[in-house]
Amino acid sequence: TFRWTRSLQLTLAVIKPDAVAHPIISDAVHQRILDNKFLIVRNKELQWRAKDSQSFYQEHAGRFFYQRLVEFMSSGPMRAYILAHEDAIQLWRDIMGPTKVFRARITAPETIRGHLGLTDTRNTTHGSDSVESACREISFFFPDFDVSRWYEEQEPLYR
Ligand code: ADP
Ligand code: MG
Repeated sequence: TFRWTRSLQLTLAVIKPDAVAHPIISDAVHQRILDNKFLIVRNKELQWRAKDSQSFYQEHAGRFFYQRLVEFMSSGPMRAYILAHEDAIQLWRDIMGPTKVFRARITAPETIRGHLGLTDTRNTTHGSDSVESACREISFFFPDFDVSRWYEEQEPLYR
């Protein structure tokens, strides 16, 4: 079948508390989203309790930075986005840059983390890293949003 464009993919992006605390920083991140022509499907501000933080970062339980991460992520408001774009997951990861701030600053100073990240923990943004995690994380942040249904509704547009 001829497709006039590639289909959209969803990812979950979060502006973390270090950035939301400083409007100039969170505005800069929001501007990156617009500049890269992501479609903002949903977006909301929220604050986690420690238990939300623990549950979201379960895969890191036991790591030396886990407690620090849990406290940080529940320390203040965040802004969560469901973003759509062709290859949204990889594109947003590329725009964020490496997890660790030193690496980000040296090897990718133009990325969000390279430019705005404060520490390895306070690194400004989150982004899903696979189709499965995007689906799980979107449901975690937006329990009322039906990911499969969204894809089903998009599909006819690309036929
Ligand atoms: P990413 O956010 O790039 O997917 P990970 O999933 O590995 O990175 O880690 C989740 C979050 O935990 C990171 O974004 C960061 O806030 C924190 N973190 C990861 N590694 C470290 C570390 N070595 N020291 C401190 N905090 C870390
Ligand atoms: Mg991760």
